[in-house]
Amino acid sequence: MIDVHSTSQLADYFIELEEQYGAHNYHPLPVVLARGQGVYVWDVDGKRYYDFLSGYSALNQGHCHPRLVNVLIDQAQKLTLTSRAFYNDQLGVFEQFLSQLFGYDKVLPMNTGVEAVETALKLARRWAYEVKGIPDGKAKIVVCENNFHGRTLNVISFSTDPQAKHGFGPYIPGYVIIPYNDLAALEKALEDPHVAAFLVEPIQGEAGVIVPDPGYLSGTKALCEAHQVLFIADEIQTGLGRTGKLLCCDYEQVKPDILILGKALSGGMMPISAVLADDEVMLTIRPGEHGSTFGGNPLASRIAREAIQIILDENLPQRAAELGAYFRDRLQAFSSPHIQTIRGKGLLNAIVIQHPHPDAAWQLCLLMRDRGLLAKPTHGDRIRLAPPLVITREQIDECLAIMEDSLKAFEQISLN
Ligand SMILES: *Cc1c(COP(=O)(O)O)cnc(C)c1O
Repeated sequence: MIDVHSTSQLADYFIELEEQYGAHNYHPLPVVLARGQGVYVWDVDGKRYYDFLSGYSALNQGHCHPRLVNVLIDQAQKLTLTSRAFYNDQLGVFEQFLSQLFGYDKVLPMNTGVEAVETALKLARRWAYEVKGIPDGKAKIVVCENNFHGRTLNVISFSTDPQAKHGFGPYIPGYVIIPYNDLAALEKALEDPHVAAFLVEPIQGEAGVIVPDPGYLSGTKALCEAHQVLFIADEIQTGLGRTGKLLCCDYEQVKPDILILGKALSGGMMPISAVLADDEVMLTIRPGEHGSTFGGNPLASRIAREAIQIILDENLPQRAAELGAYFRDRLQAFSSPHIQTIRGKGLLNAIVIQHPHPDAAWQLCLLMRDRGLLAKPTHGDRIRLAPPLVITREQIDECLAIMEDSLKAFEQISLN
């Protein structure tokens, strides 16, 4: 296969800067972005693209949503950070809004997604000792194979992805790994009375949009209830409208004991995450026992409240459900021998590329880039397709045309 794709001199300049002065912990698609608005981004040469990654679903509301830009500017001119050493006039309002919207007693605000995951795991262990009565230091947390919950040492300790985990040991103990989408495996794991919690993604996003069977979420929740085990849903990627409901767990009327949110909680403005739980869990952590300098800052609190209000006001979950179904239907009609699988829910979708060449998905992404659509492969052969939820049907049609054209070009290249 040949790589016929080039970037401009200007783009090369910025790419080389990152290459030389930045750590090499990412392998970006060669495109250098300078501006974004709604579903579009523009590169340094002024070429426009559809963003089909949406900051890994942080940009459900679209790039630079005017309402978010307005509250960002307004709040930045008033107060951005107090630390939690003092109260501020935004945090409580945000906490009330979020608690009432999702039906929990309390919120614990953090910054990045992985910090919220860490917070949920600390809460679960605390609850295990103080409420469930598990002997000190014995609590276990059940997680799933091919999970993605972030990049800290603790969280990679229970990763099954060698790329994420290898060479960073020693690892933190206390985790039990079971297959995803396997109720019997959870039932077996829960025979151990030292299990405190089950941590799960309602759809495994990073793994390549793995959608479990219907009944998996409600089934695992019921098993947890029967064994007095906390059900922790990591909805950082699946939440806030992405999969066609406000939460993906809503599809099965499952209310997690601990709910983790991030990404679109800020609409891409800054890192904002949150953990929601009832008092029985949340109040096991007392003053001084957990925290974050920036967590719950007034700028973040104001932005997050607006970011969620936009999702509600613009009916983004319903939009994602309708346009997602339409998008998958149209994709199914493509007659490409190279698309092995099409899967997803709402506007969180992926195609699996079938091709002997290991870089095939990457090549296809370059062809789509050349035609004005940005997506990136995960795990080699999977391409996630997740545009901002503000996309229109006409824009989806245009994107489908780009994809179809790219696939045709791909077939021609791969013949060579
Ligand atoms: C992105 C993601 C995280 C980690 O969030 P960061 O903000 O990158 O730390 C955790 N869980 C899931 C499901 C995610 O998609």
